[in-house]
Amino acid sequence: MTVHRAKGLGYDNVIIINAMDSVYGFPSKIEDDPVLKYVVKTDHSIEYAEERRLFYVALTRTKNRVYIVTPQQRPSEFVRELLTDYPNVVLRGQLDKQQNTITNIKHCPVCGYPLQQRYKKAYGLKLWICSNEPEICDFMTNDLRGYDMSIIKCDQCRDGYLIVKEGKPGKNGEKNSFLGCTNYTDDNKGCNRMMSYKEYKKII
Ligand SMILES: [Zn+2]
Ligand SMILES: [Zn+2]
Repeated sequence: MTVHRAKGLGYDNVIIINAMDSVYGFPSKIEDDPVLKYVVKTDHSIEYAEERRLFYVALTRTKNRVYIVTPQQRPSEFVRELLTDYPNVVLRGQLDKQQNTITNIKHCPVCGYPLQQRYKKAYGLKLWICSNEPEICDFMTNDLRGYDMSIIKCDQCRDGYLIVKEGKPGKNGEKNSFLGCTNYTDDNKGCNRMMSYKEYKKII
């Protein structure tokens, strides 16, 4: 049941799941639709104000105990806060040392929306994918060192994709990312299509 649906209801005990530090966690880190800003009054004085109210609703649905399920790595910031602020909260197990979660969120170099990391079977790769509407921004990359170069279909073979690869650094140590085909093999039998950053910017 979602927390929204539980509003006004009471239960003997409550289990809150998904208390993890991630885009779809609690607090959710999906940035609201920019259009929503004009119709919804949002409170920016406290971080995650809306999600915080929701968390409070979830906590107060119980008549006895609340159990919060949280991962050892990347637990929700709300859970960390509860542990610091309320001595009667019991921790079973361990939580990893705090990471600076805010700066861990990567943003799309094209549109600025948060990036999500997902394994894509079609590519056989773990990819960073823009969370914006795909019609607005379809940026995705296997390697953020390629800046705003997105994965594209190879124009020289049937089923290859041009993905970000790292070349040797330049004379002054500068990065040298380029796009290379997933069908590349070092025996020259595959697809040797390579695209420099310059060429990519020209065709996009
Ligand atoms: Zn984007
Ligand atoms: Zn190719």
